[in-house]
Amino acid sequence: MRKPFIAGNWKMYKTPAETKVFFKQLLPLIEKTDIEVGICPPFIDLETAINMAKESSIGIGAQDVYWEEEGAFTGEVSPSMLFSIGCRYCIVGHSERRQYFGETDETVNKKVKALLKHQITPIVCVGESLEQREQGVTEKVCATQIKQGLQGLTPQEAEKIVIAYEPIWAIGTGKTASAEDAQETIKYIRSVLAECFGESPAQKIRIQYGGSVKPGNIKELMAQPDIDGALVGGASLKAEDFAAIINYNKK
Ligand code: PEP
Repeated sequence: MRKPFIAGNWKMYKTPAETKVFFKQLLPLIEKTDIEVGICPPFIDLETAINMAKESSIGIGAQDVYWEEEGAFTGEVSPSMLFSIGCRYCIVGHSERRQYFGETDETVNKKVKALLKHQITPIVCVGESLEQREQGVTEKVCATQIKQGLQGLTPQEAEKIVIAYEPIWAIGTGKTASAEDAQETIKYIRSVLAECFGESPAQKIRIQYGGSVKPGNIKELMAQPDIDGALVGGASLKAEDFAAIINYNKK
């Protein structure tokens, strides 16, 4: 059984003071949740978020990492630094990083391996652009991102990662893939994972859907057999909305 996992990606929003306010609002709203919850704020908010979440089961994650241990890499943060403050997750290969900051499948691969060495769960983002979807190459694009991004991992390592399928045309646009379309692509991604690592590890790897997830569409998405959770951008910034997404299975 794969435990449902809902994570928030705050992108470049919120100061430490705003982070405190958010957690004060969120925590009472999700006290009884039995799903795994993660929040990935900007680096500057990580320690505040970790302190605010320490009495809860919420795990805190970063939005990016550099693969080297330490050194002359101005502006970068290493996996051991993230681990030292209590980070549990790290988003890797988000489409915004691929688009604006030169992230490639090769750098995704280096980051995934470095994170696993430090017991941090990588949330590896894959997904096609609108143009690629219209060209009918969605599966090919996702398969390449998976195969190259996870190249060289053992099946045991692969089981520890989380994949987020995020069609780029659905991110921040208000357009969600239909639950059936998301299921179909995610089922395909699971078949690629089975090809790479074997059927049993592929059945254990959690695959989230991301792209304009809201309180109004989460239930239908989570009802799909291969969708194990969500990576939530915009709607994770408001405590009430994020709580409603987390509480999707409550009435
Ligand atoms: C994201 O940033 O990963 C994302 C899915 O954003 P949104 O929910 O705003 O579409």
